[in-house]
Amino acid sequence: MKITEVKAIYPKYKKIPVSWRTNFWQIVVRIESDNGYVGFGFGGGGIASEAIVNSHFRDLLIGQQVDSIFDIQRIWDMLYDASLPYGRKGIAIMALSGVDLALYDLLGKALKEPVHQLIGGKIKDEVDCYVTGSDLENFFKLGFNACKLSHRWSGGESGFEDAEQKISTARGIFGKDAKLMLDVYMSWDFDVTIEMSRRLSKYNVFWFEDVLTPDDLGQQSKLKSLVAPILIAGGEHEFTHHGFQAIADSDALDLWQPDITWCGGITAGVRIVEIANQFGVPVSPHRGAEVWALHLIEASDCLNLAEYHQDHIVSERDEVWIQEPVPTDGKISSSSEPGFGVELNEKIL
Ligand SMILES: [Mg+2]
Repeated sequence: MKITEVKAIYPKYKKIPVSWRTNFWQIVVRIESDNGYVGFGFGGGGIASEAIVNSHFRDLLIGQQVDSIFDIQRIWDMLYDASLPYGRKGIAIMALSGVDLALYDLLGKALKEPVHQLIGGKIKDEVDCYVTGSDLENFFKLGFNACKLSHRWSGGESGFEDAEQKISTARGIFGKDAKLMLDVYMSWDFDVTIEMSRRLSKYNVFWFEDVLTPDDLGQQSKLKSLVAPILIAGGEHEFTHHGFQAIADSDALDLWQPDITWCGGITAGVRIVEIANQFGVPVSPHRGAEVWALHLIEASDCLNLAEYHQDHIVSERDEVWIQEPVPTDGKISSSSEPGFGVELNEKIL
């Protein structure tokens, strides 16, 4: 089939609940083919990436042949090369992610296969979820036994106490075997990270996430052995297999968290997992319970661990996708519908 139309849309988000990042400036990408199929993808980057898709990328995509995942990989490389002078990381790759995911959805629909089948088939029937958020009692009642807490460094003794209070409360609620993680959103520094690992050692924290910025690869590499057995996790702000190759080469992270709707879609995700396998690094994608990453987790060597955000549970939010899978007793599974198995909620456009 040939691509006949490409359009990115930044949805009219109305409900911006508890966390300002809830919509993550996500864009919808719609791609039509000459045999009547329509594929939908989810990208990042808001109106800036919407403009890239609707101008530069659209011009390059119209008329392209898409009959296999190799065609999608070829198109990915073409768009990467064409946007390289202004791209490589950030907005352009967030735009490319939406295109790549829309092409996977389109191909799946045309071949009547779910995306997990297109990339080799499920090797996990169900994926364990961890929940990210603060409504801990509720999460425990819902059957989750893994949880990630948010913490932002506020300085001094109270900063340490805040982190310890959160982890100790969670450990009390979830019990001794639950996985507990701490996401600090680049708010610590080298010394704070080491001191936190000392103070929190008795709580058996699984990972510290985004302790430093993605530009601090050397420092994170040094931290790994100093905070072990706690893992240094990160990667939601890194892009493409090239970015993760650099993380691998500098041995910077114990666990990688690419965001499939930002880092370059399924094509980049598959390549990132290949590199991770070579280096023996576990991968647990950011927002892994959303279908865009879930199909990759199910069909690849990613960890059996998907992130489910509390905004899906506790607050009113804008529904962009209909028929998204939801976890039961802390486990989630994608459907066997063609493509990603979700439909666009047209009301939000
Ligand atoms: Mg994070």
